[in-house]
Parts: sequence; structure tokens; C-alpha cells
Amino acid sequence: MSIRFLSPEDAQKVAAGEVVERPANIVKELIENSIDAHATHIELSVANGGKTHIRITDNGTGMSEADARLCFERHATSKLFTFNDLPTVSTFGFRGEALASVCGVAKVTLTTKQQGEIEGLQLTIQEGKILSSKTVAAPVGTTFIVDDLFYNIPARKKFLKTTATEWNQIVALFKAFCLTYPSLHFVLLHDNTQVYNCPPVTTLHDRVGQLFDPALSASALTLSSTEDKGISVTGVTTNPHYSRYDRGGLYFFVNKRLVKNYQLARAVLKGFCNVLPANKYPFAVIHLEIDPLTVDVNIHPKKEEVLFLHPHIIEQAITKAITTTLEQYMSQRLAPAHKPNPLYVSEPFFTPNNPGFDPFFERSITPHSYNFPTEPIAKTFYLQEPPSETHQHPLLEIPKEPFQDENLHAVEEVSYRIIGQLHKTYLLLEHKDGMLVIDQHAAHERILYERFGKNFGKTETIQLLFPLIITLSPSDLAILIPYASLLHEQGIQCEQFGEEQLRITAVPVYAKQIPLQELVQELVGWIKENDSQPAADFFKTLTEKMRAQLACKAAVKAGDVLTMDAMEQLLRDLQTTERRFSCPHGRPTQWLVSTHEIEKKFKRIA
Ligand code: ADP
Ligand code: MG
Repeated sequence: MSIRFLSPEDAQKVAAGEVVERPANIVKELIENSIDAHATHIELSVANGGKTHIRITDNGTGMSEADARLCFERHATSKLFTFNDLPTVSTFGFRGEALASVCGVAKVTLTTKQQGEIEGLQLTIQEGKILSSKTVAAPVGTTFIVDDLFYNIPARKKFLKTTATEWNQIVALFKAFCLTYPSLHFVLLHDNTQVYNCPPVTTLHDRVGQLFDPALSASALTLSSTEDKGISVTGVTTNPHYSRYDRGGLYFFVNKRLVKNYQLARAVLKGFCNVLPANKYPFAVIHLEIDPLTVDVNIHPKKEEVLFLHPHIIEQAITKAITTTLEQYMSQRLAPAHKPNPLYVSEPFFTPNNPGFDPFFERSITPHSYNFPTEPIAKTFYLQEPPSETHQHPLLEIPKEPFQDENLHAVEEVSYRIIGQLHKTYLLLEHKDGMLVIDQHAAHERILYERFGKNFGKTETIQLLFPLIITLSPSDLAILIPYASLLHEQGIQCEQFGEEQLRITAVPVYAKQIPLQELVQELVGWIKENDSQPAADFFKTLTEKMRAQLACKAAVKAGDVLTMDAMEQLLRDLQTTERRFSCPHGRPTQWLVSTHEIEKKFKRIA
């Protein structure tokens, strides 16, 4: 067979088919054109997932008759463009290609009118040629109708996916545009039914509310924006009470362009590390503004991948924005419930003088009992008999002297009313938005875990008067000894003692009571399990596990009775702890039962 040239029409079809792969590609180009034409209202209507019909109407500048006739030509563009713009150009291939490509693979109708014109112009185009032209009544702006995608390329048509799949792609894209331009009005219809209507809003947070389900919107947090080293990070994420099972809720925009990049996703997840349980993902919309010269936008039309010149700086900026936001969120959650109203201050219900008080009984017979205790933290009363000293957890010991800290004022400011301890496991707090339930073990575990991390390598230790002997099998001991430094780092001084014994000579102050035999055996188990990892990761993993396990073992347990003072101390510590909303294993430390939920339950509200 001899070599021959394709006809220009076929060449165009091939080229267009290369770039237009699916309806969403067309939608993207047309919406971008509308935005470029300064439209403030963009309505997208599709049928059959865009396979048979796409219509985009905008109220932008419209086109003159001459422009309308030209815009389908290959390389026809009204937009300034030099090769230096390449990295920022986000459309099909190069400037001026999009409409030409679309017109090569579908039946297109264009209706457009400019400001000041009396009539609009309507053109129908097929295979890049104008089939008909007429004047019509039309509003200022432009409407593109794209029918029967790939009507002329059956081979391509076969590759279109199901209506549901194509529709989902369009929805994802539509949402991306809405999230990029909150100040524009976007409407989306499918098979003539309106699916989204997003009037202009002033914040991304509000836009999220228009697009996503109520549970997500209720959890949305505006990212505390950062601007550092020429990188600006803004956006919205969700609080730790929201999660999903996939990464589909992570949106990234670089200089307003939707991108995919695993490093960016990783940075967000790092910010949520230990906040969400494993295999749960947050929602986040992250807008990055960076010097276009430091990002390589893969201009291949079908791809959204990007490469960064300094990925680490960007990752750090994102992680920081996320962690700061979560921190702020939690600080607010633990903020003062309310100042006591002096008129209502009364004797607390439960006093050491009245240990057998029964609130239900008492309330029914004496009107005085309706005086609710309203002191922010009543330090003098116990819900239980005052627990004996031995019940007091060593790490929650309260100084006997009044608190002399300079920060006393600040600490006192941050008060919530402790209702008490539930089943010796949970602290119940009155909170301005409802009732806060805190898991005492999870919370304390997190406090210790963060504290151990900060004091890494400089833990205060005590020498044991009688060394503790731990017996292991010879093979386990042989496995352990090369990693003895892991124990030393945590303040556990030890040495080999014969064939099958480890002698522990000093332990951290806090670890006086923890079962060290168990801990050492666990450490041997981790070493065996993880030794296929590269050395650096391996040490990191083991250190993390040790830290988490020590925190777990040293923390108060469910079942430990806490005094009011101890609870107070725990809350005070929690307040200044990083990542305080989950324990190191990812379990939440707290749960807010909202007043709304309570009122609903009691049918005070509908
Ligand atoms: P490009 O956007 O790269 O310029 P396109 O093929 O997408 O290339 O569009 C060609 C030209 O058609 C644009 O430069 C613009 O002048 C005009 N155009 C396309 N869509 C619209 C629209 N919705 N409103 C006004 N002008 C438009
Ligand atoms: Mg364009």
C-alpha cells in the first residue's frame, strides 16, 4: 500500500477526535470561553450525559458577525498569546483550537449577540463548515449547542462511556468551575431537570454549601490562608467529624486551574494524619497561587497532572494550612461555654457535705432544687465520693497550692462547665453548642503522645532501686538488642543480662506503673513484622509505635475515677495539645452532641 495524505477534512477529524475524547472535554472548553468573555451567568444543559446534547448559554460579551464566522477556524483566537503563556494556557492544545476541534466532531449551533446590536446571529456548523446563517432574536451573550457527538466518527462514538459515567465527569467539572469562581452564577441541567443552581456568593465556604450535601457543608471550615515564599494557599476543608471513604473530595487548583497531583493530596492527608481514622478521607478545596514559572502544567488536553519545581515547599504550605485550621477549630470548640450569670449562682448540688444527694428525689420535693449549679467549674464537689489518693492518676496530679502560673488568667478564661464523669470513662461538659463528650483515655493518650514527641530523647527518668528483669526467648532477645536504642530514646535504660534476660535499670518518671514486660514483647513483635521496610522508615515506624504504645499504657483508662481537679487538669492539658481531636490510633477524643440534636430528640423543634 502506498503512502498518501489524508484529506484536510479527515485530518481535522483525526486531530479533533484526539483532543475531544468525551463530552466533559467540550464542556470545559465552552465554559472557559464563557468566562473569558466576562460572563457572570453561565447555564449548562446536557442530555444523555452530554453524548447527544450540550448547551451552554452565557451573558458574556458575545461576538461580532465577523468573529462568529471566524471562531471555528483552526488557530482563530482573540486572546493574546505568546509562547511565554504556554504554561498558563489551560485549553485544548494551543490557543484557538477548541472550537475548531468541537466543530470537527459534532453538530454545532452558535447564537450570539453583542451589546448594542438589535439582532443576534445564528450559525449552524458541521465538519468545520457553516451550513446556515440567520438573524434571530437573542439576549446579549453566546449560546453554543453541541449535538450528536461523534456522529461522523462511529469508531470514537463506541468509546463513549455510559450516560451515568459521562454525566459524572460533567458534574465533577461543573463543580470545579463553581469552586474556582464563586462570584459567578452557574446553573446545571440534566435532561431538562435543574440539578444545581449556584447564584453568586462571596466566599468559597458558601459555594461549598451550594454544591455539597448538608453534612459536608455543616463541617466545612475556611482554611486559614497562608502566604509564604510566594505561595498562597486558600480554600475550604472539613472538620474531623466529617470523613469519606475515598479521595474524591479533594480538589486542587493551581492558579485557578484544576489539577491532579498526588503530592498535593498527600500534603492534605498529612495535615489530617492522626485526626481521621485510617482509610477515611477529608474533603478539601485548595487554591494555590504560585509563580507560573515554577509549575509545569502538562498541556496535554486530556491530562490534569502538574509538576512543581519545589514540591516540598508547596506540600509544607498545604499541610500547615490544614493543621492550623484544625487547631483553630478545636480551640474554638474548647472555648468558654458561657460566663455564669451571677443571679443564678447557687450552692452546688453535690457537695462533700451532701454526698447522698439524689437529684431526682430532691427535685420533686423542694422548689429550691431548681436552682441549677451554674459555676463554670465547681472545684469543691464530686460526683462520686471523693476518690482516695490512689485513684488519682499520677499524670493528672494537681498541685496542692493554688495555681501560681502567670497564665492563670488565660486558663481561667477558658472555662466550660464540667457536668461530670460518665461510667468512669467519659467527661461530660456543657458547651455553648451542646454537650461535649470527651473520652478520657483517648484524650489523655493524645496529650501524652504529643508530650513524648516534644521531649524526645530528654525524658526525665528515675533509677530503679531494684532493676527489673524481663525474660525473653534467646532468639527474641537477639532480635531486640540491636534496637535497644529505641527503648533508651524513650527513657527506658536497659541492657542484656545473660542469654535470655533483659535488665531494666531506669524508666521514665511517667512509666513507673506501665507493664514493661508487655511493652518489650510488643516491640519485638513490631521488629519482626516490619523489618522488610527500608532502614530509615523502619526506625521511624518503630519510634512512632513505641511512642503511641507508651502513651496508651501511661494514660488514664476507662474505669479510672477522676476528681474534678483531675478532669480540669486534663482539659487544660488538652487545650494546649496539638491534634487534640483524635488519639494516636485515630479514634476521636471528643464528640459534640449539639443542642440542636437534643432539642430535636425532645421534639422542642421540628
Ligand atoms: P481560544 O479560547 O483559545 O481563543 P477557542 O477556539 O476556544 O480558542 O475560541 C476561539 C475564539 O472564539 C475566542 O478567542 C473568542 O474570541 C471566541 N469565543 C468563543 N467562545 C466565546 C463566547 N462564549 N463568548 C464570546 N466569544 C467567544
Ligand atoms: Mg477557548
